[in-house]
Amino acid sequence: MELDSLYQEVILDHYKHPLNKKLQSDFTAQVHHVNPSCGDEITLNVNISAGIVKSVSWDGVGCSISQASTSIASDLMIGKSLDEALKIVDSFSDLMSSKGTMVGNEEILEDGVALAGVSKFPARIKCALLGWMAFKDAAIQSSKN
Ligand code: ZN
Repeated sequence: MELDSLYQEVILDHYKHPLNKKLQSDFTAQVHHVNPSCGDEITLNVNISAGIVKSVSWDGVGCSISQASTSIASDLMIGKSLDEALKIVDSFSDLMSSKGTMVGNEEILEDGVALAGVSKFPARIKCALLGWMAFKDAAIQSSKN
């Protein structure tokens, strides 16, 4: 798989120095998501109150794409309103289903656009989506609690 080298650096940097990769005990929902086709696995905690994402923390193992993507997603969601956060997830999902035809909106996705090239590799899309889908799942569960 070849990605733009600048983007590759962004991904490697998140992989080597993942953000929010330490589970916080103070959470409103916890989920565990796996991507069996690659062996990626994450546990993700969210703390959402009064419609604001107060914290997102996670732990996991897996390929660089899955771990970097979860780092990027967690960092983007913190401090956003729940509505805004879910829109960001949708925007990333659209990017991942674009088969390489979209570059992504950097204002919305920030470092997430570094993963745009992954959409050309169907086998890796689930790796890239893992953290985002885990966040969405946790956010929905949290709003039911
Ligand atoms: Zn993977």
